[in-house]
Amino acid sequence: MKVVRTEGALRDALTPHRRADHSIGFVPTMGALHEGHLSLLRAARLECDVVVVSIFVNPLQFGPREDLAAYPRSEERDLHLAEGAGTDIVFAPTTEEMYPAGTSTMVTAADVALPLEGEARPGHFDGVATVVAKLFNQVQPHKAYFGQKDAQQVAVIQAMVRDLSIPVEVVVCPTVREPDGLAMSSRNAYLSSEERERATVLWRALEAGHAALSEGAAQEVAEKVMEDVVESETGVVLGYARAVDPTTFGPSDGTSPILLVIAARVGSTRLIDNLPVSEA
Ligand code: AMP
Repeated sequence: MKVVRTEGALRDALTPHRRADHSIGFVPTMGALHEGHLSLLRAARLECDVVVVSIFVNPLQFGPREDLAAYPRSEERDLHLAEGAGTDIVFAPTTEEMYPAGTSTMVTAADVALPLEGEARPGHFDGVATVVAKLFNQVQPHKAYFGQKDAQQVAVIQAMVRDLSIPVEVVVCPTVREPDGLAMSSRNAYLSSEERERATVLWRALEAGHAALSEGAAQEVAEKVMEDVVESETGVVLGYARAVDPTTFGPSDGTSPILLVIAARVGSTRLIDNLPVSEA
């Protein structure tokens, strides 16, 4: 496994593979790797000749009052885990390498970025779209792997790839969960042991919303069921609990599939989760 830190070194590492017409699979991450990230790397390993992972905590996608400075960083451990999952190349640039002085071009994310996470985190998806567009240009992957865990991010990337004709196939992999249902997230490391137990409320709410829909409840009723579950837990503040159309993130018209999405603050840690529902 090669670790490269500059665009030039990345290009050099990829040149022989491009010449050999190898398929390139790419997994963008912010590090602090866990089983969710590793599932993406394993999927890429199965489907592609070369697997590239990026580890970059992207300042552009953090708001001024968010956790950029505190975001967990564990490069040595990450490299070990990435290698174990079959990674060939790790791209771990510095902020200066990614955004040299004078950099100012940004991608404006599609309208799907506006509600929910976009409302809670102004500018977040523009920052995500910008770094992912840049990484796509640097790596030029055939396939790029993203987690269903960040469903609105997936919709933003899919819209960007479509709208800007970026030649990459976006592959979406299922959310990896802890045995008690909590979606794996680098931010789970912020939770105290008490908060860690309370955090299962997101999954419990999604399951309750799903059960309500399965029993024929209207979407608004399922939303209320999810809200009630979250509000019954102490120390947890609801952000939103909605049933949405998974491509627009607006209300589902009942004919398209439904995605249940939820955000809540557990202590001072903001967590998100979602559950696709097949029954309309
Ligand atoms: P991050 O490092 O949080 O930016 O995440 C990098 C990629 O890993 C994104 O595509 C995430 O959606 C994905 N990811 C994060 N957590 C999970 C999870 N629990 N299951 C599956 N994919 C995940």
